[in-house]
Amino acid sequence: MRKKIVAGNWKMNLTFQEADDLLGDLMDRLEEIDELDTEIIICPPFTYLEMATDCCEEYQMFEVGAQNLSAFDQGAYTGEISAAMLESMGVTYCIIGHSERRKYFEEDDKILKAKVDQALENGIIPIFCVGELLPERESEKHFEVVRRQVRHGLFHLDTNEFSKIIIAYEPVWAIGTGMNATPEQAGEMHAYIRKLIDERYGSEVAQATMILYGGSCNSKNVKDIFAQPGVDGGLIGGASLKADEFVSICIQASNI
Ligand code: PEP
Repeated sequence: MRKKIVAGNWKMNLTFQEADDLLGDLMDRLEEIDELDTEIIICPPFTYLEMATDCCEEYQMFEVGAQNLSAFDQGAYTGEISAAMLESMGVTYCIIGHSERRKYFEEDDKILKAKVDQALENGIIPIFCVGELLPERESEKHFEVVRRQVRHGLFHLDTNEFSKIIIAYEPVWAIGTGMNATPEQAGEMHAYIRKLIDERYGSEVAQATMILYGGSCNSKNVKDIFAQPGVDGGLIGGASLKADEFVSICIQASNI
């Protein structure tokens, strides 16, 4: 079984001091563990990325991801943060296509495709999020929706580029609601995404692609979700803000 990935998405939470305390608490807890076979990625807000990359360098226990990047290369785009800027400060991953960005910032397939390209051109690994809304699942359109998101956001890439991508399946109805997908629902969609990749890039690439599940994961439900074949770890929102919860998720991921 390959090493699972657990990525924490802090979203727009925590003051500077709270972020510092959380990182300190996480490091204390992680240092106590003898062996941990989980790849950990922490995705704080932009303002705390430097704090996180410093901590990453000092402890070597996790990698750092951003939650967003600009679809543009550089220049007169006030307020934007480019992929090159992130790369230059030691950030190695970036969440792209999170449902909150699709919803509140109207990021569509075209913008997300450009963001994926910016990330890859600058050595940043995209954690590309896909997932259906509740009415889409209820009307059994979930496979169709996810197929469109995967194809439009990623299938323009060549095999070498695609091989760098991490996908996160995050049913929108499960994000921040406490209503996680069942392990079977997660497993079924992960298998479907892998089938799409197989058809486009072949079975070797499909088998090697890391597909995470996200949506109300916590220390109580991850064991069953992560144990599903084809679930390679998780993208964790709310539970990543509590050191004990997040570390418990990382330990459980390591033991599967
Ligand atoms: C997320 O924001 O990516 C997420 C999965 O959130 P939560 O774990 O809080 O549902």
